[in-house]
Amino acid sequence: MDFNLLKRIVKTPGIPGFEQQIRSLVSSEAAPFGDSVSTDTMGNLIIKKGAGKKRVMAAAHMDEIGLMTTYVDEQGFIRFHTLGGFDPRTLFAQRVTVLGKKNLPGVLGGKPAHVLTDEEKKRAPNIDDLFIDVGLPASKVKELVPVGTPVVRDRSCIRMGDLVTAKSLDNRLSVYCLIEILKKVTVPDDISFFAVFTVQEEVGLRGVRVSAETIRPDAGLAMDITIANDIPGVSAQKKITELGKGPAVKIMDGSVISSPSFVQYIEDTANQHDISLQREILTSGGTDTPAMQYLTGIGAHVSCLSIPTRYVHSTVESAHGSDIDDTITLGTHLISQANTFLQDSDVVKATDN
Ligand SMILES: [Zn+2]
Repeated sequence: MDFNLLKRIVKTPGIPGFEQQIRSLVSSEAAPFGDSVSTDTMGNLIIKKGAGKKRVMAAAHMDEIGLMTTYVDEQGFIRFHTLGGFDPRTLFAQRVTVLGKKNLPGVLGGKPAHVLTDEEKKRAPNIDDLFIDVGLPASKVKELVPVGTPVVRDRSCIRMGDLVTAKSLDNRLSVYCLIEILKKVTVPDDISFFAVFTVQEEVGLRGVRVSAETIRPDAGLAMDITIANDIPGVSAQKKITELGKGPAVKIMDGSVISSPSFVQYIEDTANQHDISLQREILTSGGTDTPAMQYLTGIGAHVSCLSIPTRYVHSTVESAHGSDIDDTITLGTHLISQANTFLQDSDVVKATDN
């Protein structure tokens, strides 16, 4: 694993709608391995490799959940709005970086346990109870932090035993994997491969719809993390996936039912290359996958290659090193052999008539 690259990808900020910094890092790392690079007006980064007639798209969202400032009070404390799904328990007592006119370190404060009322002790904090303290007088904060300033959580990426742990492994792990796939893949003659780093996934799969509409893929592979609930207190049937048992192929989630033939192709390819693969079923939640299928009316064969991750949407998201490596290996084979899948495909596109 190129752990240094992963660390840089995790560290670079990119809340939904403000992906400029992460996009420029990904572009500089990945562009040399594609034939052409473009960014659409939405902010999706599209790297094309190969010039065949059949179109295969892989989509990894590069935005991360984050905060946006809404108000600075007379003491200089900052209030904020959340972008993406947050459990308030994961925000209390965290460090953040406020990306104002200059970068300011901050903390998400709250009352210490000593002064909580009995009522307050019983419940988790609400987002509205929380605020950001940057340790500066109100006049200075108001000058440096205009309303609408992006705020990212501050937690570096480290190795922990066999795992890596950080904030925003959702979805920077897949961003890293897709860059590595671009480096390694040999695209078959009859395929055009589009590696797309999408924006605004965490606020409702917004960016991918635009890129899917432009590319109109025959097959679409989303790349994202999924829940590994292999922790104490969870019964066996609720684990969803487990760490260290390979990437997962999405059968369905709350937003999509994957194409059975594409799932079969992914399973066959994993088998062929001796890569262990789990089957993922989530009954809620969603990823970029449906945009390439029904959200834009394209009807591509779709599924998602998911990296099992514990403590999703917290600052201590954790994933297994071998699952990350296997995602790169399997993803590379899936694109390198995509012609075999699309030859058998019975989908006729209007443009092929
Ligand atoms: Zn995600």
